[in-house]
Amino acid sequence: MKFTDEIRRRRTFGIISHPDAGKTTLTEKLLLFGGAIQEAGAVKSNKIKKGATSDFMEIERQRGISVATSVLAFEYQGTKINILDTPGHKDFAEDTFRTLTAVDSVIVVIDVAKGVEEQTEKLVSVCRMRNIPMIVFINKLDREGKDAFELLDEIEQKLGLKVVPLSFPIGMGYDFKGIYNIWEKNINLFSGDSRKNIEETIEISDLSSQQLNETIGDSAADTLREELELVEGIYPDFDNQAYKEGKLQPVFFGSALNNFGVRELLDCFIQIAPTPRPKESEERLVEPTEKDFTGFVFKIHANMDPKHRDRLAFIKIVSGTFERNVPYLHTRHKKKFKFSSPNAFFAEKKEIVDISYPGDIVGLHDTGNFKIGDTLTTGELLHYRGIPSFSPEHFRYINNADPMKSKQLAKGIDQLMDEGVAQLFTLELNGRKVIGTVGALQYEVIQYRLEHEYGAKCSYENLNVHKACWVDPRGSDEQEFADFKRVKNKFLATDKRGQLVFLADSSFSLQMTQQKYPTVKFHFTSEFE
Ligand code: GDP
Repeated sequence: MKFTDEIRRRRTFGIISHPDAGKTTLTEKLLLFGGAIQEAGAVKSNKIKKGATSDFMEIERQRGISVATSVLAFEYQGTKINILDTPGHKDFAEDTFRTLTAVDSVIVVIDVAKGVEEQTEKLVSVCRMRNIPMIVFINKLDREGKDAFELLDEIEQKLGLKVVPLSFPIGMGYDFKGIYNIWEKNINLFSGDSRKNIEETIEISDLSSQQLNETIGDSAADTLREELELVEGIYPDFDNQAYKEGKLQPVFFGSALNNFGVRELLDCFIQIAPTPRPKESEERLVEPTEKDFTGFVFKIHANMDPKHRDRLAFIKIVSGTFERNVPYLHTRHKKKFKFSSPNAFFAEKKEIVDISYPGDIVGLHDTGNFKIGDTLTTGELLHYRGIPSFSPEHFRYINNADPMKSKQLAKGIDQLMDEGVAQLFTLELNGRKVIGTVGALQYEVIQYRLEHEYGAKCSYENLNVHKACWVDPRGSDEQEFADFKRVKNKFLATDKRGQLVFLADSSFSLQMTQQKYPTVKFHFTSEFE
């Protein structure tokens, strides 16, 4: 197959949702269509069980699953589909944000009864910022839920999306009869649990035909006609370009558990979803069709076996082909590396591959050379824009609890931060180290892993920080900046990349500081122009 055909047949996406909306179930049904798995229950949910925060077995189990489900690839009707796993648990939100830098589109799963939930809002806002094309799947139609129009309104308002329903439910919950597929112009009849994997599809080319009444009954047929008229009146026509630019979001309804509406979603997805997209680097925009390989690290996974401390770095291929045993330039180290066993991921297994194409993800064994955000190229000195860090929610001093093991501790902290487990800040005043995390769970993970993988012990001490703000001295008044640094010295730190960070202890003090030093710029993510 030609190189450009290989690119054209690839779809790399993530499924995002609030926990329990049905992401795992949907993933599994998608894999079933690809024939990638044989049975339900094969995709492990990587959810953190409630109350499991202190259960280290659970953390280990998690890490195992999260390697296994990092990338799930399968073939469907000539399309190569790569699903990137995005943890729904809020303590791992950063991991999800980073994964979103490697997807070309997303599917947002929403529970019909719960509507838009907190985690969905956060994740969708990140996708919106990046104009990532999104398809919405409203799940659990077999249950009583919100009225379809009400839900579509909620999605537009809370998520700031512009929706276009491409399917529409006929009834809901107990009265759920099926789905009218606006995209394909047919009806899928739902029949409870009797035929979980087979659906009856009835072509309805003319909505005014008697056939509709015969299929779903007079009253449901009338309601459907009215509702579809409303849909036509309220919502714009589907426009593929607008969808691809992130300006319009098609919506499907279904029930993942019953495998209902999933094939319709997938069939439409492979037609409309974008092929691997070009990516901005600091130097220039890189097109996937370029001959030379480029790619970047978006995830690093430590080995589960403490005896083998090597890690797996996940690379998204942006352009060209990635080949086994070919030396590639690590542009941060300005050094070439070659990889004898790059892993590709297929449903439940990983395999060594000789060649991978744009859109694909390869896992490279790494002994500590990679950091999240690193770029690999055939030879060009190119740097993909870093992956921004957001202000953590929790801050604690980390102390060495075993003076004999300070080297191990330093190394462990260093490597865990490279993996993106948490953020490290070093106080300007006294060099003390502060760990910032999105969720409290990470502190336990770090402590556990430092001990089991690096043989180091640590303890924590609370630190009252409201928000970390990255300080941009450029363009500030010199005297004012010097004053700021002197007066706020106690609250200043540097992050891992040496950028200056202001650890504001309250929103009030942050406001006051901004007012007092108006020329100094404060940013809430580590990336700014
Ligand atoms: P995740 O946290 O988003 O991955 O959610 P899961 O896929 O694990 O689903 C959460 C729960 O909802 C599980 O008990 C599923 O069996 C259930 N579920 C998923 N899809 C449906 C559906 O279409 N209908 C119903 N009734 N339950 C569903």
